Amino acid sequence: MSLFSAVEMAPRDPILGLNEAFNADTRADKVNLGVGVYYNEQGRIPLLRAVAEAERARIEAHAPRGYLPIEGIAAYDQAVQKLLFGANSELLAQGRVVTTQAVGGTGALKTGADFLKRLLPNAVVAISDPSWENHRALFESAGFPVQNYRYYDAATNGVNRAGLLEDLKALPARSIVVLHACCHNPTGVDLELDDWKAVLEVLREREHVPFLDIAYQGFGAGIDEDAFAVRLFAESGLQFFVSSSFSKSFSLYGERVGALSVVTSSKEEAGRVLSQVKRVIRTNYSNPPTHGATVVASVLNSPELRAMWEEELGEMRSRIHSMRLAMVEQLAAQGAKRDFSFVARQRGMFSYSGLTAEQVERLRSEFGIYAVSTGRICVAALNNSNLEGITRAITQVI
Ligand code: PMP
Repeated sequence: MSLFSAVEMAPRDPILGLNEAFNADTRADKVNLGVGVYYNEQGRIPLLRAVAEAERARIEAHAPRGYLPIEGIAAYDQAVQKLLFGANSELLAQGRVVTTQAVGGTGALKTGADFLKRLLPNAVVAISDPSWENHRALFESAGFPVQNYRYYDAATNGVNRAGLLEDLKALPARSIVVLHACCHNPTGVDLELDDWKAVLEVLREREHVPFLDIAYQGFGAGIDEDAFAVRLFAESGLQFFVSSSFSKSFSLYGERVGALSVVTSSKEEAGRVLSQVKRVIRTNYSNPPTHGATVVASVLNSPELRAMWEEELGEMRSRIHSMRLAMVEQLAAQGAKRDFSFVARQRGMFSYSGLTAEQVERLRSEFGIYAVSTGRICVAALNNSNLEGITRAITQVI
């Protein structure tokens, strides 16, 4: 008998499965709104000019590819810290933040989860309902039980504020609470300033451990604006975790560029924490890859390239925003039987459109428009060429 005869087929990843179905579709006017990537007006994943410049310089330098330190490139880690906490952060000046390069935002979450499992072996992890689908699987694979806290309110297309606070209060003390720092995936619905303050107070009271996930910095209102929650928590005196990613903001998806930051209470503590995070990394993949982080560090640390990147990021942000406005406008103009104005208020790449699984299925079968069955659509995949067809189809299925 084969060693593998009892191995069961794992369920297909819902989003990757959607991509496979999309690729197999032969209709010329098919559109994939199920993806989690930014497409430009031409429907392509952009290669940012700032990235291309940094890559050119790197290739010309014929840089050798030795191993990086376990924690990654120092210039990269420091640049990440400034982007998250602000260049004038007191925490950074005090040496209280540990930052290690990670294999994307996903790798940062996993490294943080593995470290937390050693620190709080009996803790519960709480994620928003709904959340990025990998959050649950990641923390479960690190050995934690994972619960949901109420977050999205379908009736208002907003946040269920009372439910959120109630659920955070009801968690066992010292639970790990994963929060989307900006541009919530999949809903596009973010907390407001007062909500963050209220959440912070509950976390403090219950001694929960905040784990802020920031995968879309710069896609909401701006680089500093989107780091608001990170900076509020930094001022709070709490210890917390931040997983960050440049997949979207640098359009470097496949290069796997992210970071894990841990805020500690002193420089001395930071040294001990770093030593343990390094152990987690060493036993998982030894040390991180060179290319993406080198490119990001050269862009962030060069005034010219950084200005170019900020401009390009601003272009991506405003293109998404204008697609939101155009979508709302066209749906109204085409006589859609529902008010879609909430789409314009959502932030980041996604919109919980309110479409049902059945409506999503009709979009696919009748119109070749692919969306996630929950109704999540990627607004960054809309453009002036496909928008009219998409809004017309939506108007017909609702
Ligand atoms: N967190 C959230 C909320 C995400 O949406 C994503 C990616 N879609 C990630 C983390 C992971 O980012 P990366 O692709 O850099 O691993």
